[in-house]
Amino acid sequence: MKQILVLGSGESGTGAAILARQQGFEVLVSDLGEIKSEYRRMLDAHAIPYEEGGHTRAEALIASLPEGATDDRLECIKSPGIPDSAPLVQRIRERGIAVISEIEFAGRFTRAKMICITGSNGKTTTTMLTYHILKQAGLHVGLAGNVGRSLALQVATEPLMDYYVVELSSFQLDGMKEFKADIAVLLNITPDHLDRYEYQFQNYVDSKLRIIQNQSEADALIFWEEDPVIQNELSKRPVRSALYPFAARRGEHTKAFIENNDLVIETLKTILKMPLADLSIQGIHNAYNSMAAGLAASIANVRKDSIRQSLQDFQGVEHRLEYVATVRNVRFVNDSKATNVNSCWYALQSMKSPVVLILGGTDKGNDYSEIETLVSEKVRSLIFLGVDNSRLHAFFDGKVERISDARSMQEAVAIAYAEARSGDTVLLSPCCASFDLFSNYEERGKLFKQEVRNL
Ligand code: ADP
Repeated sequence: MKQILVLGSGESGTGAAILARQQGFEVLVSDLGEIKSEYRRMLDAHAIPYEEGGHTRAEALIASLPEGATDDRLECIKSPGIPDSAPLVQRIRERGIAVISEIEFAGRFTRAKMICITGSNGKTTTTMLTYHILKQAGLHVGLAGNVGRSLALQVATEPLMDYYVVELSSFQLDGMKEFKADIAVLLNITPDHLDRYEYQFQNYVDSKLRIIQNQSEADALIFWEEDPVIQNELSKRPVRSALYPFAARRGEHTKAFIENNDLVIETLKTILKMPLADLSIQGIHNAYNSMAAGLAASIANVRKDSIRQSLQDFQGVEHRLEYVATVRNVRFVNDSKATNVNSCWYALQSMKSPVVLILGGTDKGNDYSEIETLVSEKVRSLIFLGVDNSRLHAFFDGKVERISDARSMQEAVAIAYAEARSGDTVLLSPCCASFDLFSNYEERGKLFKQEVRNL
């Protein structure tokens, strides 16, 4: 009988193990680190054997296979967080054992249609928005991938879905072989995670393009038409999917675009028009995300009035340009998830009033020239919140009149409030990772909101 070895027991690994068990496979879960108690309990409840703090049993299982053993004996489901360079993964590959992702595995056991969303920025927002539209339209829909519960767990526990909306990172796409997206969404491609791709941008790009592998004429590809990387890739590959490009301007084949300050979605199934100002999430990047989600919903036969309503009443996603409060006519906006310069650019771009900008943290070799023009146009005052603000000072000193340093969120919010004038916006959009002062971007965002509420 075929065995399944699950490497890594977080959300995806635990879900994969439970589904594999339910489907009658013999399963072993192996984690180099400690398994969170929530996941340990889930494995126990399904009587699934596991090891943590090392791979001893996994190594023994591999060693016990006769020479020449391949996929029909053992398959390995690897969590996206484990790099290909991990020694155990390399040994597994050398033995000719297939290494797949949890999504690939889950896809084998459901007939639900898959709407799969990838890109360098905007994945979570677009995934949540698409889910919201489908759910409000009364479809039986699940949310999976990097958000919420794993796809495998949902397939195991709720087998009768119409659709799954799945957020896919490049790491998850790497483990995809037969899996097919019925509706694929490719938002944008800019350099990211290059440390996992041998510092070759093309490797990362190839990984993102796996979103269209196995698609046929009956499937749809929604993509940002103005992205030069995507354009180039689509021109050099055979693409069978029906194409649904979106863009700021209407081109010959564009299916969603902006015209006279209206967002327009024009497919065979829908002609939807609504004022940009009515979108619940603002900024040009969110107009793109709304186009992508609106197109996906239209392809899924959601009526245009329903799409329009959902694009208006979507609550947004925490820590992404999230409105917090207005205190004495100063607006506070939490964009803690802006951990790179590109996302801060979009945040500033969407601001309609003068800004007091809080930025800083763990600098990943950022090039701040990308936001220099917007900072000089819109920013009244800068506050650097980090342990080491030297790279920020080196770039911005002399370019902005008022610059302060803060070592805690409390201090940063207090300075920002003092600096702001009536009508201004205080924006936390750090351009940096959070690990110098906080455990993660969520904690940073939550503390920001707490300090604002304490004002
Ligand atoms: P991801 O899941 O891809 O990291 P999120 O939806 O969590 O994307 O957003 C991450 C950051 O990028 C946020 O600061 C957000 O404001 C910004 N962002 C959202 N959508 C886009 C987009 N289409 N293009 C560029 N930046 C975006």
